[in-house]
Amino acid sequence: MKTTIINSGKSQINQVSKLYNYPGIKEISGSGLLETMKKQAVAAGTQWVEGAAEAIIHKDNGYSVILTDGTELNTKYIIIATNLQTGLLERLGFELTVNEKVPSGKIKKVLGIEADGSTHLSNLYITSLLAGIPSQSVIAAGHRASIAITIVTRETGKVYMWHDK
Ligand SMILES: Cc1cc2nc3c(=O)[nH]c(=O)nc-3n(C[C@H](O)[C@H](O)[C@H](O)COP(=O)(O)OP(=O)(O)OC[C@H]3O[C@@H](n4cnc5c(N)ncnc54)[C@H](O)[C@@H]3O)c2cc1C
Repeated sequence: MKTTIINSGKSQINQVSKLYNYPGIKEISGSGLLETMKKQAVAAGTQWVEGAAEAIIHKDNGYSVILTDGTELNTKYIIIATNLQTGLLERLGFELTVNEKVPSGKIKKVLGIEADGSTHLSNLYITSLLAGIPSQSVIAAGHRASIAITIVTRETGKVYMWHDK
């Protein structure tokens, strides 16, 4: 499936000089992990857009994403993984509440998200701490991989179970 990542470049993991708990990697800097993920995604055909999504407009056949520079991108499915930044979600009408997994109170949780990331808006998924899942990069990556498989399964009408040999 054609995939676009829109990223405004303020990942929390950029603050981390070394992480030792990403399975399969002995140690890596946060920025190194991000760069490796980006290269892998682009090599697999992902369109990578450096920019910020300002608004998401729900249309009959999907969504329009408007970036702060005015660019408009159209899509059938959306996964929101904005973590600390909640403006986009508030503008979509989602309600935020206290996140008991974040004692500092810095990150909220969005009400009404199912365990699989789905929401009351069709084809729109939310992940990261905002969806009530615990912190750590591998958990963030795994939850959105699970959402991606749900989407592929829905699009193709058959359970996605692909193992390269
Ligand atoms: C000090 C510290 C140390 C940590 N140490 C570890 C560790 O050792 N190991 C570990 O696994 N995890 C660690 N973590 C946790 C880890 O950083 C997070 O679990 C992980 O970054 C979550 O990934 P995420 O993609 O959900 O959110 P983030 O990494 O926060 O990324 C969110 C992204 O969304 C982008 N964004 C937000 N709004 C918009 C918008 N409107 N349009 C476009 N893009 C937008 C942001 O710019 C950002 O790039 C640490 C965190 C901190 C703060």
